[in-house]
This record gives sequence, C-alpha cells and structure tokens, in this order.
Amino acid sequence: MRAFRQPLLVTLPGIRRDRAAAGLLAALLAAGGAAAQAPPADGSPAPAGGATAAGDAEPGTDAGPGDPGSDAPEPAAEGPAGTPGELARATGDAAEPPAAVGPEPGSEAAADAVEGPPEPPAWGPFEILGARIEPGEKARLSLATGESFAGTRVTVPVTAIHGTSPGAVICITGGIHGDELNGVEIARRVLSRIPHEQLRGTLIGIPIVNLHGFRRSSRYLPDRRDLNRYFPGHPRGSSASRIAHAVFDGVVRWCDALVDLHSGSFHRSNIPQVRANLNDPATQDLALAFGSEIVVHSPGQVGTLRRAATDAGIPSITYEAGEPMRFQREEIERGITGLRRLLEHLGAMPVDDPLVGPTELFWSASWIRVDEGGILRSAVSLGQRVRTGDLLGIVIDPLTDEHAEIRSTQTGRVIGMALDQVVIPGFAAYNVASERRRLDGDGLLDTDNPPVESSPPEDMSERPE
Ligand SMILES: [Zn+2]
Repeated sequence: MRAFRQPLLVTLPGIRRDRAAAGLLAALLAAGGAAAQAPPADGSPAPAGGATAAGDAEPGTDAGPGDPGSDAPEPAAEGPAGTPGELARATGDAAEPPAAVGPEPGSEAAADAVEGPPEPPAWGPFEILGARIEPGEKARLSLATGESFAGTRVTVPVTAIHGTSPGAVICITGGIHGDELNGVEIARRVLSRIPHEQLRGTLIGIPIVNLHGFRRSSRYLPDRRDLNRYFPGHPRGSSASRIAHAVFDGVVRWCDALVDLHSGSFHRSNIPQVRANLNDPATQDLALAFGSEIVVHSPGQVGTLRRAATDAGIPSITYEAGEPMRFQREEIERGITGLRRLLEHLGAMPVDDPLVGPTELFWSASWIRVDEGGILRSAVSLGQRVRTGDLLGIVIDPLTDEHAEIRSTQTGRVIGMALDQVVIPGFAAYNVASERRRLDGDGLLDTDNPPVESSPPEDMSERPE
C-alpha cells in the first residue's frame, strides 16, 4: 500500500522504479540535457520575503542585536535581471531529440534509421558568469557579490565542470552558514575528484557561499544577518539580499537540480539527513536518490536557498549533517556518497555502486524547547527513537540545583539536538521527527501511521537550516 500523497516516481539505484514518469529531471535528460530547461527568470521566484522571515529565523540564540526582522522591509523583488536568452547557453540547439525529425514510419529510410546508430545530440560550450567553458573543461570562476568596506570587489569562488556529453546542470552549495564546515569539505572533495571525462551534463559548485562568515568562523554575514533567510534576494535590498540575489541570479537559476549542504547550528548536531519538499515529485526523486538513511519532509522556510530554488521550479534538497565548526569524517563521507548516488541517478555519472540502504521518511519534525534556564544535560542521543512523554533531558539550575525535565511531545526519532550546554528558556533543544514512512526493497512505501493531511506544525518554520 503506497502511503505517499504523491506517487513515487523515482528510479533509485538498486531499486527499479517508473523512470518514464520520473519528473522534471528525467524529462530533461531524455530531451538531451540541460538545454531543455527554461531557467526560471521569468517565472520570478517569490518576492524577497526572507526579509520579513528573518526575525524569527533561528531558535534561541539567533535573536539579538542586529536582528534583521527589525530592519526596513526589502523592496519588492523583480525577479532575476536579464533573460535566459541573453546568457545564451550554448546548448540551446540540443533540446530537440533526434527522433523528432525522423523519416516517415514504414519507409525504407525509416528502416535504415532504426538500424543505424542514433544521432548524438549536439553539445557545445557552457556559458555562465561571463565565462565560456568547453566540453571536458573545468573552470574556476568568480561571482561578484558586492564590495568590502574599503570599496574593493568581493567575490565568491565558483567551480564549473562541463561534461563531455549532454546532461543536466547539477549544483552544489556549501557554507551559506560560514561556520558549517562539513558541507564545505563535501563540496570540495566532490568537485576536485569527479572525473571530467565521465561527466554527462554540467556540475557547478559553490563550496563557500558565505565567504564573509567562513573567514570569521561565523554563521552570519558581517551585519549579523543570516544569508539563508534572504533568497532569492534583490539587487537593491539589504547587503544580505544583494548577496543572495547575486548567487541566485548568477548561478542558481541555471541549475536543473540543487543540493545545499548544512550542519546543525550553535552547538547543535544533526544526524545525517536530507530535507526536501516531498510533495514535489521531482524533489522527492532527488531526495530519495541521495540515499540518506533519514529523509525529512519540509517545504523549507521562506528565504532559504532551497525554498527559493524549489519555488523557482528547481528541485532542491538540503543535506544536513553534524555540528558547526568541525570537519566530521563520517558525516562528510556520507555526504560524498550521497552526492555520488545522486549524480549517478541523474545520469551524470556511470553507476558504480547501486546499493542503497534502507531509508526512513518522516513527514514532520519539530523542535522541543526548554522552559527553564540552566545547564542542559541530555538523556537521549542523536538518532534515538522516543515516544511521547519520554525524558529527553534535564535543565539544572546551577545555583539552586533545581532540576526541570524536558519530555518528548511526540513519538519519533531525535534527528537533531543541542549538545550539553548552558541554555535559556525557549532554546530549541531536541528536533524530533515523526509521521514515519518506510521505503522497502520493492520500492513501495510501507507506513507505520496513516498519512496525516495537516498543515505544517508551527515549528516547521523555525528549523535551523
Ligand atoms: Zn546551515
């Protein structure tokens, strides 16, 4: 019995599925690659709503001086400047599949055509950020995102690898939060090790989107804004909004699929997991292809890169793993493996290891907050299964020695949690995922609970992504 609200439309490595209906990405590949995609310039992404969402973006520690929510509103978004045609992706002629201009059925020519090898689709250079990248080439590019206080140009490094044959444009972003290092390393290793000669399509990576924050080991931009609350941005908005716009307009809108890499925030850790809007078939396809043990449904908070890209018609997922400020070997390895599976699934790389482990899908997740200030001491560990009412941890008043219990408000699995630390009331301590679905070996979904048709819980908008 299939439990999804949407049909499962994917072809997972190792699990056969209906590829013919595999959504946007498969359609792109079937049509000869990225050229079939119309970049989302005209279907403008949602207005710069990130400005209004920024104030309550982060649980606990995010609020404070320089809170973006108190600033003047952003001007209305106009959508990315320029038209896709102006950027002239040189792959334009490849959109028509050769079969579309074949001879009349039944003719001799048709018989010859059947016997002969199919005409390979044209595949030319790829143009982005003013650069022209030939098939088989790798380019280091610079994305201008603004100016420093001294008036010098600030740029973010972008790596683009253009494959030798047609395929989708797949994008990887890391370091939108400058202190989340696992994703930076995942992007670096994938971009540096992928064999160009085997790549179909184009791979674009921005390992450190928030270079300002990365230099200072900070989640934020210099003005304490969270860049991941400002996408798709605006060219005349706040500093954060302008940077977001430069990234979105310069790179993201050209992507056929996007993977954004993150870690937990502020002394919190996340079990490796994929977050995605599973109600969108193409996004669901991408999320499951990654092969993460845990997949959590989440439309994404307005202003996040993933949400803005998804709203613009670009299937996008977030890989969340581990803690900030650390390079964690296992979380990094899992991310690299997931990206490899995803590239293979999209046809960008030959399939190497088709095996995918079991995947648990959760349709909901919410943060459980502490109500008392003091020293947090956890009774659970990351990944642990809990039931409603189970003790998650205690908060100890360091002066009075009073203990306050934190109990789970739902049955599910702890997918993110705070490390033991000093907390204040309202601090988001445990992220418990619930409404579990399970993907079995036949590719069908089993469910422990009936699907729940409900609006996202309040805390969905406060996930520290
Ligand atoms: Zn993050």
